[in-house]
Amino acid sequence: MKLAMIGFGQAGGKVVDKFLEYDKRTGSEIVRAAAAVNTAKADLMGLEHISEDQRVLIGQSRVKGHGVGADNELGAEIAEEDIDEVQGAIDSIPVHEVDAFLVVAGLGGGTGSGGAPVLAKHLKRIYTEPVYGLGILPGSDEGGIYTLNAARSFQTFVREVDNLMVFDNDAWRKTGESVQGGYEEINEEIVRRFGILFGAGEIQQGQEIAESVVDSSEIINTLSGGGVSTVGYAEEEVEERSSGGLLSRLRDDGNDEELDSAHTTNRITSLVRKAALGRLTLPCEIEGAERALLVLAGPPEYLNRKGIERGRKWLEEQTGSMEVRGGDYPYRGAGFVATVILLAGVTNVPRIKELQQVAIEAQDNLDEIREESDENLDELVSDDSDELESLF
Ligand code: GDP
Repeated sequence: MKLAMIGFGQAGGKVVDKFLEYDKRTGSEIVRAAAAVNTAKADLMGLEHISEDQRVLIGQSRVKGHGVGADNELGAEIAEEDIDEVQGAIDSIPVHEVDAFLVVAGLGGGTGSGGAPVLAKHLKRIYTEPVYGLGILPGSDEGGIYTLNAARSFQTFVREVDNLMVFDNDAWRKTGESVQGGYEEINEEIVRRFGILFGAGEIQQGQEIAESVVDSSEIINTLSGGGVSTVGYAEEEVEERSSGGLLSRLRDDGNDEELDSAHTTNRITSLVRKAALGRLTLPCEIEGAERALLVLAGPPEYLNRKGIERGRKWLEEQTGSMEVRGGDYPYRGAGFVATVILLAGVTNVPRIKELQQVAIEAQDNLDEIREESDENLDELVSDDSDELESLF
């Protein structure tokens, strides 16, 4: 599946940058175009792979390239005011060659949190291609203002995109790790999962044809209908046989083939369980997911239709959904078989409810503190019996 990716804010830009690196490394060609938008000049300069003419600095007259300091209302305002500048970068994208837009942002900050929903709304108004969001939730240790920003942005972003895929930093936080080092690993995880998912719908010419390849329309259909999505992942190392090589010829007697096939099927079904019941990008109850897509990636000799069928059936039972799609993605050279499961239209997500609760408390506290601080300042500045007069 070919995407036009736009990273909004620092996290958004870094993740899109990572997608480009992944694309170059694996040759998956999912990023047809990439741009980064920010109010902070330094963040744009830190990017490595997004070309310089696709880095858009907005809000220069308002914040002079210094960012919006976690004020997402200001982030949204600036995005609206300078949407033409963002459009300028999008104009150079051959939109007829992309299957969808992907707007990526960290929802806890200011620029991406406020700007991403504005951009999504703009893109949907102008283009017929689907507009997806990849929203990153802050860690619960980041504090009230980040939680409040994320809760408000999440609500708005979901409404403006065709589907919001969510990654929760909180579920992936490791204690005792530097923030930078932590993000490096987290961003790898994001790109691995979504890279395989989107790569599945982008089989290259000359690539080995699998039994039932995932098509980009299957990804689009799974994501259609809106709502919130999460992605599960599991992998197992395997020894790759070079096709037609000595090893495969030696093993090519009937018995071994049968054994292998049973083993392959079992490996696939166990990977499907691990992916669905393990850590999701947004932890939630999988029961009630409206649609699902199961992608099995790996060397073709480790993929089989029976395994995918069993995995699909199991997912249908677990989710209660009648719309579970599945297929494979022949992928050589990585030394593993991996399962990616996209669960779309999830609604039982305790983490979101918790985020909203903390956000409401933070909002009440902020209002209180603001009121109190007005009163306190008044008390400090004015003299007790109002004898002094201001100059003007
Ligand atoms: P903005 O530049 O104002 O949009 O804000 P940032 O993108 O810097 O931060 C917004 C939120 O994104 C933070 O609260 C973090 O939760 C998260 N974040 C920042 N950098 C990264 C990153 O590199 N990876 C991930 N996964 N999350 C990040």
